[in-house]
Amino acid sequence: MTTHVLIIGAGAIGLSSAFALAQTGHRVTLLDRGPAGGESTWAGAGILSSLPPWGYGSEINDLIRRGSRLWPEWAERLKRLSGLDPEYLPSGMLALDIAECAAAECWCREHDWPLAEPPATVARLIGRPSQALWLPAIGQLRNPRLAQALRQTVQTLGCDIQTHRAALNLVYEEGRIAGVATADGLLQADVYVVAAGAWTRSLLADNAAGLDIQPVRGQILLFKAPPGLLPCIVYRNGHYLVPRADGHILAGSTLEFVGYDKSTTEAAKDELLSFAHDLLPELDASAVVRQWAGLRPGSPKNIPTIARHPHYGNLYVNSGHFRYGVTMAPASAEILARLITGQGESLDPAPYAWPNRQLDKV
Ligand SMILES: Cc1cc2nc3c(=O)[nH]c(=O)nc-3n(C[C@H](O)[C@H](O)[C@H](O)COP(=O)(O)OP(=O)(O)OC[C@H]3O[C@@H](n4cnc5c(N)ncnc54)[C@H](O)[C@@H]3O)c2cc1C
Repeated sequence: MTTHVLIIGAGAIGLSSAFALAQTGHRVTLLDRGPAGGESTWAGAGILSSLPPWGYGSEINDLIRRGSRLWPEWAERLKRLSGLDPEYLPSGMLALDIAECAAAECWCREHDWPLAEPPATVARLIGRPSQALWLPAIGQLRNPRLAQALRQTVQTLGCDIQTHRAALNLVYEEGRIAGVATADGLLQADVYVVAAGAWTRSLLADNAAGLDIQPVRGQILLFKAPPGLLPCIVYRNGHYLVPRADGHILAGSTLEFVGYDKSTTEAAKDELLSFAHDLLPELDASAVVRQWAGLRPGSPKNIPTIARHPHYGNLYVNSGHFRYGVTMAPASAEILARLITGQGESLDPAPYAWPNRQLDKV
């Protein structure tokens, strides 16, 4: 029997979940109060790695590694099915000023993150004496194009996407969800998934107890430079530059705990300008064409929750991917699809179970 799944939130996580479920023959409806992919997913830099890879435990590393390995194939499929190019680019990443470079190198070798001698175009960026590693397999996606390609693909696969329609609240019955209230009436399905990013807790209200997902603002500056000025992603002490194929270069990002405030600030602009010019002085000649901010779904230790609700049998959450939701999206979608359908290959869901804290209310 076909299961009808209603996903609330059409960001990278909701759209990828819909993609995974639609491919296994499920009927999927996606609901978003804005456009598809218009929040954190639009604002992100699209680096397909954690920063840095050796900075995290196995729960994060497993999702990152599987996600980043799946993306090249997913990107090809999205391109074929949608006719839109999410601009997957295996640009590689140069990590600079690494505090414990020998340990990081060891970690990469043990955890199957390929390292190599940088080519001359990349090596010139190392400049002054620096503890550096070149990770040639790390790729990137262009977020707004990714969201468009995902949206078009899931529609091609038969999913119904209802944008500019907010979920006001879930309707709870004894042990299950009976529907989602919207301004235009009740929407009903067999299974419900909350993938509402930084808004997941507010939507679940009292039934979010145990989930610690909160907005964390990130700001980015966009330069327009001649194509090829920067050959790869460069990461240094929490900041990065990301070159797009058409010459745009992103400088990111900040980590700010300011609630749901999405405004940009002069302080962040100064911080990112100073980082970008120090790393790549040639950027002096390039114009800053845009600055923006997005709200990441922040979670403790960056561990997302991909789980069934402890008290409502047909309610699932796929949220809290914090700094790496685009990278993790395919691997998280696989886990969710397996939890719902009992089928398919995925990582072990156990590390992403509902946080083990008392619910205030049942
Ligand atoms: C500056 C910045 C840089 C980043 N860089 C990277 C990076 O390089 N690599 C990486 O992997 N990740 C990066 N991220 C993180 C990544 O963007 C996020 O983890 C990811 O986008 C989260 O996706 P999501 O679908 O959970 O959330 P979102 O994209 O925020 O989507 C949630 C959706 O839910 C909808 N919604 C909320 N409430 C409701 C409601 N009541 N009813 C209906 N719809 C609702 C929203 O409108 C939204 O569209 C970055 C983020 C930022 C801000």
